[in-house]
Amino acid sequence: MALPARRLSRPVRVGDVTVGGTAPVIVQSMTNTDTADIAATVRQVADLARAGSELVRVTVNEKEAAAAVPRIRDALEAMGIDVPLVGDFHFNGHKLLKDEPACAVALAKLRINPGNVGRGTKRDPQFAEMIEIACRLAKPVRIGVNWGSLDQDLLTRLMDENSRRPAPWDAMDVVREAIVVSALESAARAEELGLPADSIILSAKVSGVQDLISIYRNLAARCHYPLHLGLTEAGMGSKGIVGSSAALAVLLQEGIGDTIRISLTPEPGGDRTREVIVAQELLQTMGFRAFTPLVVACPGCGRTTSTYFQELAQRIQSHLRERMPAWRADYVGVEEMTVAVMGCVVNGPGESKHAHIGISLPGTGERPIAPVYEDGAKTVTLKGERIAEEFQELLETYVTRRFARRAASA
Ligand code: SF4
Repeated sequence: MALPARRLSRPVRVGDVTVGGTAPVIVQSMTNTDTADIAATVRQVADLARAGSELVRVTVNEKEAAAAVPRIRDALEAMGIDVPLVGDFHFNGHKLLKDEPACAVALAKLRINPGNVGRGTKRDPQFAEMIEIACRLAKPVRIGVNWGSLDQDLLTRLMDENSRRPAPWDAMDVVREAIVVSALESAARAEELGLPADSIILSAKVSGVQDLISIYRNLAARCHYPLHLGLTEAGMGSKGIVGSSAALAVLLQEGIGDTIRISLTPEPGGDRTREVIVAQELLQTMGFRAFTPLVVACPGCGRTTSTYFQELAQRIQSHLRERMPAWRADYVGVEEMTVAVMGCVVNGPGESKHAHIGISLPGTGERPIAPVYEDGAKTVTLKGERIAEEFQELLETYVTRRFARRAASA
């Protein structure tokens, strides 16, 4: 099936990663460790990178954090992890970048929030200081507007202009316009200061799905900078995933968006890599990219009265994620594989035939056998206590048979 055409954006290099242009939509994430805690931050960046995050942002909020960044970069390099790091600056970014020059050198990109660079007469010179450092070091910048920290001077100016309109806009329309204008005017100012247009990425994050869609459509129509998509403060668990997916799916389907982040609030002690997996699954289920084989599993119903089928689906999903790093290194295209795990004879054989490899488990009252289908044809019927193990063995054999082995590098 043909994918929707992407909006034309100017590609930006962030370390070894390209954002925008014809590059695939990039998955990124952000740490939630204290950046000054080098060991914890290195560990989390490594986890995020291993999960597939192609850029990782870290908070740079104080001197200790800025000083830690080069050491974090070095420690990651020593581990063989070259994921580009992005520094997130607010309020004192100009000072931190000046006082800790090695910080900017170690970063692949700076994120600047134009609403948090200083009020009144301080705003322009502090913004200029950061842009000048980016120019000198040839670092790209994301101008990241967030409506929680919208430039209040700009908002006041647009509200005043609105009040003079013959038919004033609704106040929320002015806020949405202010978010877009903040991004565009800041980008124009950065270009005036010498930052090349192909070093600028924009984002304009809000927490409402309809607001986000409206703002990004507007922004996309008014510039050629690559756009970083994300629903800010998306929330916890399913609410965060659904809200982010709903907003980003609409925009991606319209060809808008060059890099995405799913901003999930983790459960206490929860795994930060979840936001990477959700971003990958969003792009993969929409057909934009493939990261890991997908499990197609039915929801189960009154025909699956035991938990066996859920356990098998979960086991297969975990097995695929565990095996993927080795498979990806050895086999071409294995990330596009689909695996069906179905609960009974109603849709099991049909869905299994559509997948690369699928198993149709016995529902309640059915004969205790599980036919396996490969490339649309039934190949074997499993039964007994070792159905799960045997299906995993069949998966391994299928991968080696179905996908071409990569040529060994010299
Ligand atoms: S395939 Fe069978 S078990 Fe699964 S939802 Fe459909 S009827 Fe229920």
